[in-house]
Amino acid sequence: MKINFNLSLKLALIVLLVSATVISLLTYVNIQAQTSFFESAYSEKATALAQALDASISNREELENRYESQNRIYKFVYSNPDIKNLSINLPDPESGELKVFASNDLSSINDSAGQYNDLSYTNKSIVTIPAHSGNSHTLTVITPIHLGGQVVGTYEMTISMNSAYASLDIRVKNLIIISMVFLILLIISFLYLLRIFVIKPITIFRNAANIIGKGNLDTKIKIKSKDEIMELAGAFNKMTDDLKKSREEIENYSKTLEAQVNDRTIELEKSKEELFYLNKELEKKVLERTAEVQHLLKQKDDFIGQLGHDLKNPLTPLVGLLPLLRDKEKDPSIKEQLDVIISNVNYMKDLVVKILQLARLNSPSIKFDMGDLDISKEIGDIISSQQFFFKENNFLVENNIKEDIHVKADKMRVEELIKNLFTNAVKYTLDEKGTIVIDAEKKNGFVTISIKDTGIGMTPEEINRIFDEFYKADESRHEMDSSGLGLSICKRIVERHGGRIWAESNGKGKGSTFRFTLKLSEDK
Ligand code: ADP
Repeated sequence: MKINFNLSLKLALIVLLVSATVISLLTYVNIQAQTSFFESAYSEKATALAQALDASISNREELENRYESQNRIYKFVYSNPDIKNLSINLPDPESGELKVFASNDLSSINDSAGQYNDLSYTNKSIVTIPAHSGNSHTLTVITPIHLGGQVVGTYEMTISMNSAYASLDIRVKNLIIISMVFLILLIISFLYLLRIFVIKPITIFRNAANIIGKGNLDTKIKIKSKDEIMELAGAFNKMTDDLKKSREEIENYSKTLEAQVNDRTIELEKSKEELFYLNKELEKKVLERTAEVQHLLKQKDDFIGQLGHDLKNPLTPLVGLLPLLRDKEKDPSIKEQLDVIISNVNYMKDLVVKILQLARLNSPSIKFDMGDLDISKEIGDIISSQQFFFKENNFLVENNIKEDIHVKADKMRVEELIKNLFTNAVKYTLDEKGTIVIDAEKKNGFVTISIKDTGIGMTPEEINRIFDEFYKADESRHEMDSSGLGLSICKRIVERHGGRIWAESNGKGKGSTFRFTLKLSEDK
């Protein structure tokens, strides 16, 4: 209802304003026209009276006889009740100034006639002066007095227009009342038309929109006015039809989607269940396998450790006694055979020592003597101590580590690790001479030490296996100083320090680089 009221009120106000303005203007124009009509009618009447008065005087004696003039004025005023004031003004014989000679207002006699009389007298013309104050409306007409073809004075006649204005007032009031009634009728009929042609269709549209808003798309608007509103209703109905179609399509699509989602959900649930059981099964199997592997690894470590101990004991006296026997022997062929035996025994002892070492490194009970270690100094010291070994093998060592780098490490184990890698670099360089380049790079709390050689290099398959126990890339080069355990020991040492070791090579004959990381010392 609010929208109706607002719209109607606004339009009614506009109509009211426009009509009021038009009616006011018309009333004003009407009053103005009537007023000027009154004034000219009264002016004509006054002029006619003055002329009648003028004609009633035939000579100067008559005019200048104050008694007769005064009498004439009284008669005139008596027979014309509209005349409020009538005076005859003549020039003063001495001063020539126009003065009141005779008048129904006796108090004004001999007063100056005033400027309007002077004007009429000198211009020989009629002067009309309307005056309005409160309810009093008068018209003063001044006409020249003619005698013998000459202007000898003026008549001043003031006529009351009150009766005319009173009737005008009544007419104006009637006009205003009629206008008001007309205005009210206009507004009522306007509102009525507005209601029929605008508000009613708008209400129909609004109600339909409300029903549609609630979801009922079967609503139709029926308007037969054969105008724009009917066209609008057509467009509205079409829109509703389109909406209905779209909604049906969406509903169908939603249903299909819902069904698909349901199917997928069921499938997923099934898969989830299957996966859950599969996972459980896998987990169980992994746990079983891990336990088995751990058990086997332990068995292997135990076996190797035990075997090492069992072998080391009988080897110790052999290693000590055999060189003595060889030195005492005079027969060179037996001496030669003893040399072979000694080298084999030494190899076996070395192998057993390494096996025991690896077994110890694999045992979690073995503790490392961790401390702050200047790795640059350590490498420098190892190079110095190995100087003879490098010279003998015609090897050049280039140490590029210039700054002090402190790591947290077991000095003995790190020394063993680096010596092992140096020995391998020399051992696996078949050329007359070789080079070892050492570098270090600090990153994320670790230092990576690299040892690069110019040796025989490795294939990717070999790189994958070199850290395996007992692995030797080239079995045919089965020398007495090769056990296949050196890199396994290196790996265990690095890993027990929390680091990583790996090898890189561009292939056979292209040299190898071994890299390992160690944790930087937090103290420095
Ligand atoms: P080994 O006692 O045989 O040297 P390692 O465990 O130290 O045992 O080395 C394993 C294998 O890795 C070696 O037999 C060799 O084939 C390969 N290898 C090790 N170091 C190098 C290297 N610097 N250059 C090329 N091959 C290497």
